Amino acid sequence: MAATFPPPLPAVSDSVASPPALPRTSEHEIVLIGGGLAHLLIVKWWGRQPLANARLTLVSAFDKAAYAPMLPGVLAGQYNRDDFQIDLERLCKRCGVRLVVDRAIRLSPRDRMVGLSHLPDIPFDVASINLGSVPAGEALWQGRRVVVAIKPMANFVERLETRLAELFAQRLTGGAQPILRFSVVGGGAAGVELALCLEQRLHERQWPAEVTLYEAGSTILPGFPPEFRQQVRQLLTKRGITVQTERRIEECEDADGIWLVDSNGEAFATDLALWAIGARPPAVLAGFDLPKYKNGFLTVDDSLSCCADPPVFAVGDVAEGKSWKVPRSAAASVQMAPLLWANLRAAVQGHALRAYRPRANQLQCLNLGDGTAAWSWGRFSGLSRLAWKFKNLADRRFVERLQ
Ligand SMILES: Cc1cc2nc3c(=O)[nH]c(=O)nc-3n(C[C@H](O)[C@H](O)[C@H](O)COP(=O)(O)OP(=O)(O)OC[C@H]3O[C@@H](n4cnc5c(N)ncnc54)[C@H](O)[C@@H]3O)c2cc1C
Repeated sequence: MAATFPPPLPAVSDSVASPPALPRTSEHEIVLIGGGLAHLLIVKWWGRQPLANARLTLVSAFDKAAYAPMLPGVLAGQYNRDDFQIDLERLCKRCGVRLVVDRAIRLSPRDRMVGLSHLPDIPFDVASINLGSVPAGEALWQGRRVVVAIKPMANFVERLETRLAELFAQRLTGGAQPILRFSVVGGGAAGVELALCLEQRLHERQWPAEVTLYEAGSTILPGFPPEFRQQVRQLLTKRGITVQTERRIEECEDADGIWLVDSNGEAFATDLALWAIGARPPAVLAGFDLPKYKNGFLTVDDSLSCCADPPVFAVGDVAEGKSWKVPRSAAASVQMAPLLWANLRAAVQGHALRAYRPRANQLQCLNLGDGTAAWSWGRFSGLSRLAWKFKNLADRRFVERLQ
């Protein structure tokens, strides 16, 4: 099975001769595209309650799926790599689900086919899409040695370690021990967690380094309550992290050292940049013949469906509701799973679909890397050890259920 990533993206065109499609073996072929969090739960539930005369297939670009909320903790050294990854081969085997490790690059409702990067097309009767999102500014971060993008998350730790090893080798051969300059681009929840967890690791290992957080807007953590933002901002300062707001990083130059350049043309020297800005739809969605918004995300109705005939659902980061809006998060993806499970079964059995009701308020917890977490729920917020304990327990339990 093809498993190298990222494979070159083939042109999405009818002129590419595809090998014959995989044969059907079941009356109902259900295909889950992407190993997102909702799909992992569907695989698990299928193991307990499979549908008669139906086969479930999971298409995933990797044979492992990463659980994003634990990634900053990996950076801080609170978890090791295996703690936040789910072995899809093992999960699928245990649950009686066929796993296809390849990148989905096309979906044609007319032909009822999912096209893959290397392997033959897969026919489907019912499909669901849970491909996640990618950080914005792909043109800038892709292929840059200095920039370690958080996606694909399945190989983030390897890419980061490669870059760190290069940096330390350079420093060792250089003789002197100048301070390493680490940058985190993006002052949203992910960027703030990454900056604090990175600083914690550097601090514990006593590496001579400084961390700077760059944010395009006037404040970090836009969308969070003002008191919460202030508490986190104070903590960043206390931990020695420099926060640069109104710095829209637009270029990365590799001449005479490495520089991040903002929209005013000002340059900032850096040795390594973690890239965590915004969320954009994965480029492959262009090859999915389904309704989309101008921003490229899939349009879904109340039943999480983006096509009625054949039934195609979309959940998690990749989907945007016509009548509801929820922030893109792991929690939202997980919450959509029970409804997706009910509606996948209803679609196969010809029953009526149910409607999604997003939760009004969600508890949000940011890992601060030092055994505490910042939490926010509606108008209330704070920093505490208890919040970290709660987050740690919830995250570990989620992954362990799937491991
Ligand atoms: C650093 C960081 C920390 C975060 N912390 C939190 C947190 O504490 N709480 C929270 O709720 N949210 C958190 N989030 C947000 C959260 O990660 C995402 O919103 C969530 O993971 C989206 O889940 P998903 O189910 O849509 O897809 P994902 O979990 O992103 O999974 C998508 C899957 O699809 C696969 N895939 C992609 N393209 C293809 C393709 N073409 N073919 C086949 N497979 C493909 C990927 O390999 C991946 O396995 C964090 C995000 C980051 C970056």
